[in-house]
Parts: sequence; structure tokens; C-alpha cells
Amino acid sequence: MNLETNLRERLKTPQRSLIVALPIRMDDGHVRVFQGYRVQHDSARGPSKGGLRYHQDVALGEVAALAMWMTWKTALVGLPYGGAKGGIQVNPHMLSLSELERLTRRYAAEIFPLIGPDKDIPSPDIGTNQQVMAWFMDTYSQQVGFSVPGAVTGKPLAIGGSLGREEATGRGVVNVTIEALRHKGIDLEDTSVVIQGFGNVGSHTAKIFDEAGARVIGISDVTGGVFNPKGLPIDAIFQHHRLGLPVQDMKVGDHLTNDELLALDCTVLIPAALSEQITGKNAERLRCRILAEAANGPTTLEADAILNDRDVFIIPDILANSGGVIVSYFEWVQDVQHFFWNERDIQQRLHELITHAFHRPSLAEREEISR
Ligand code: GLU
Repeated sequence: MNLETNLRERLKTPQRSLIVALPIRMDDGHVRVFQGYRVQHDSARGPSKGGLRYHQDVALGEVAALAMWMTWKTALVGLPYGGAKGGIQVNPHMLSLSELERLTRRYAAEIFPLIGPDKDIPSPDIGTNQQVMAWFMDTYSQQVGFSVPGAVTGKPLAIGGSLGREEATGRGVVNVTIEALRHKGIDLEDTSVVIQGFGNVGSHTAKIFDEAGARVIGISDVTGGVFNPKGLPIDAIFQHHRLGLPVQDMKVGDHLTNDELLALDCTVLIPAALSEQITGKNAERLRCRILAEAANGPTTLEADAILNDRDVFIIPDILANSGGVIVSYFEWVQDVQHFFWNERDIQQRLHELITHAFHRPSLAEREEISR
């Protein structure tokens, strides 16, 4: 990037990191203590912004890396934010709803001093959803004595959430991938898509691609994947998966493992699950023309080098999945202005910002142009 040495020195280290112990009374009466984190990497461009992850592997280093990615992501798409991330080391599926509520509220109370619409604004990430954000906002609001919708994004519509936020990351993935297809001269009708992961991002990406006219031929969740070269019935799988059922339960194609899915012959491969899925070990086997990184950090450095050599067009995570934070920004703007937009405005503005970022020349290219 030719980043100036002084800037590089500053950006190597997060600005602020907080570790909190979260004692929770479990439903059976005993107390368990969970570890929680919030890292603010940078706030030079405005309040720091980033998701809240509930996963058994969450650790300080990972949260710090994810916070740093948010700094690059918000800057790349031109939002007035810095980067942050939070997390709790917990498998949320092992907790009851009331245990999850107590954990979220305790976490919100512990990190309260760092949070606020002008300071740091959490949102959902892996393992969290609208309900978690609603508990978080309520705990924050209780502390100050009045309702503060702008303190979190990704919350339910009824308490100041935004239209289009839930599917925003998926919509952004589709928007930028369509730009990449145009750039490569490939028609949408000739495009086959494979998606790893059927959570919020993967499922909406599949649905929106399907509606746009591309052929989604492979999808998976944690339990494994399904493949059908003629295209999968995405709407039916979407409804089925909403009930908490694995995608492989539906008899719509051949079964395959997540590793086999990554090696399918396709136009666009979209990792939309956890990080480090495409590595030095499997990058050689990929058979896609475009890799759209919907997850954060799905490709290791070794894999990046291999894919570049093989001329795979990579849409990096900080661009590919930026639709989420872009619509989070719209949500926050609506909250602080107390004025709400319609869905068409949201979709149009998301499309504008993300395609502008796709075509924006890099720093090196800009220096080249001005020379
Ligand atoms: N968790 C999402 C991400 O990694 C969204 C962040 C946000 O909306 O603040 O980009």
C-alpha cells in the first residue's frame, strides 16, 4: 500500500482493549464466568464501529484482528467511523434464552464506559442477532435513563432498526460480485455460484443471487453441503433452514463435505462462514474464477499468493462484506436524525457506496495517475 511509516506504526496496535469477566447464574443455579472483550482499534475518522461475536473460539487476538479489519473496511467504503470488535468466548447454542439474555446484559453493563453513539457502536456478528442487540441497547439505555437507539445497530425495526439491515451484507456481496462479473465480461445468466455457510450472510447472499438470475449450484452449513449443477431451490432451502434444520436434510442434490464444496467448478465461490477456510493446503484445488470473501478473513496469506498466481479474481473481505456496516451506518444516521428511510432508498444508497468503492482507484493507482 505504500503506507507511510508513522501511520503504519500507529495502526499496528489497537487503541484500546478491554477484557471483562462475566459471572452468570445458570438456569440450574450455579455460577459460570465467561470471558468478554471489546477492542477499539482506531477512532481517528469517527466513533469506532464493529460487531459482537459469540463463539467458543473467541480470543483477544482474534477480536483485535477483527477490529483492525473494521478500520480498513469503514475507511475503504468512506464511512465516518473507526474500527472496533467485541466478543464473548461462549457457544451460544449451549445456553438457554434467559442465560443468553443475562450474559448479554452483563457484558453490556461491563463495557458500558466504552460504548455510545459518539464513541463506539456495536452490531451483530457470528452468534449474535437482533434480539441480542435489543438486550444490549436496553441495558445501555437503563444506565443513562433514556432510550438510545444510536448506541447499537442491527436491532429490531420496532426500536429504531433499519429496513434492509438483516440482508445488507448479502446484498452488498451480490452488488460487488456483479461488478466483478461485468469487469470480467461474464453474464449473470452464465454464472454459477457456490456458497460456504448458510448463516445470515450466506443465506441472504444465496437468496439475492437466485432472485438476480444466477444459478446457485452449491451451498453448505456446518453439517455439510448440497450440490446440484442445474441449480438449487434456494427459496425452499431458505424456509427450511429458518426452522433450524440442516441443509442436507432436503433432497435437492448430491451431498458433499465443506471441503469438497470449496473445490466445486463454478464461476463464483463465496466463503461466508468462519475465517481461514482457504489455506495453502486447499487453494490449489479451487476451481472458481471469482472469489468473493463474504466472511472476515476466509483466505490465509499463503492461499492468497497461490490464488493470485492462478489468476483468480479476489474481492477482499473488507469490500465484499462491507454491505453490513454500510447499512449499519444508515441505521445510525436514521437513529440520530429520528428520520427513517424507505427500503428503496437503503438499497440504492448501499449500491451506490459499495460500487463506488469497487471502482475507486487504490492509493498506488492514484499516485500513478497524478504523476
Ligand atoms: N459484523 C459485521 C462486520 O464484520 C458488521 C459490522 C457493523 O455493522 O458494525 O462487518
